[in-house]
Amino acid sequence: MVREHLLNTIKSALAEGETGRLREVLEEARVQEILEVFHELPGEERYVLLTLLSKEKAAQVFAELSPELQAEYLKSLPPWRVREILEELSLDDLADALQAVEEEDPGLFRRLKEYLDPETRAEVEELTQYEEDEAGGLMTPEYVAVRASMTVEEVLRFLRRAAPDAETIYYLYVVDEEGRLIGVLSLRDLIVADPKTRVKEIMNPDVVHVRTDTDQEEVARLMADYDFTVLPVVDEEGRLVGIVTIDDVVDVLEEEATEDIHKLAAVDVPDLVYSE
Ligand code: ATP
Ligand code: MG
Repeated sequence: MVREHLLNTIKSALAEGETGRLREVLEEARVQEILEVFHELPGEERYVLLTLLSKEKAAQVFAELSPELQAEYLKSLPPWRVREILEELSLDDLADALQAVEEEDPGLFRRLKEYLDPETRAEVEELTQYEEDEAGGLMTPEYVAVRASMTVEEVLRFLRRAAPDAETIYYLYVVDEEGRLIGVLSLRDLIVADPKTRVKEIMNPDVVHVRTDTDQEEVARLMADYDFTVLPVVDEEGRLVGIVTIDDVVDVLEEEATEDIHKLAAVDVPDLVYSE
């Protein structure tokens, strides 16, 4: 249900052109509330809303839109706003959004990639190679990786620098000199350990992982079975290339449940989500 009050406040501020007040209201609102309101608004007002939001909130709202809407706004929003949104998005969301544009408008896709710094562009190009319904298409490379020989103290120091850009810091993955995944430990494991302890002494070498080509339903099933909120993704050589987080998997389950409900609307099926 849409919060009527918020919707009305936003609508009247839009109608009266009170951009100052609108900015204030939007700044106080949660992203989920803004999204509900967004979907109630006519096209032109959605556009205004996306330009008035702070860049952080604009990117958060944008990340939740359908690929079709994302492509539309990347085409129509002012360049400064598009640039800000692209900068704020996490790499997996960025790759998804650009993939949505690629299919419809290859020229725009190339122009948008020019906005990215070279490092981000390379990472996005890497991510857009993977199938959307496989682990590679769900993962983000913003994980924290450490070496087995590091001490707990060194890892904590490293984390302080790595944390702002990581998708999650709750799990740290251990890689060897070839980048192969050889262990995992949690932030909790790290914090309770003696600072001089080496990672190899406290890591779990038996890592539940998926490959870039693991089907998304399998990823969801593993997460549910093992109760992990994050799973590491490796390439054919066993090198760590990304992580899949539960939020992306929940989106997958929602999509598949909706598809199944549509397909099986008239049939009485007890378990719609796992109807393999
Ligand atoms: P409990 O499992 O008892 O609830 P907890 O709440 O502290 O403990 P976490 O700290 O989230 O749970 O993680 C528990 C352990 O799971 C950690 O020690 C971590 O090494 C391990 N772990 C995390 N991800 C994986 C993975 N992909 N494969 C194997 N082990 C993992
Ligand atoms: Mg637990």
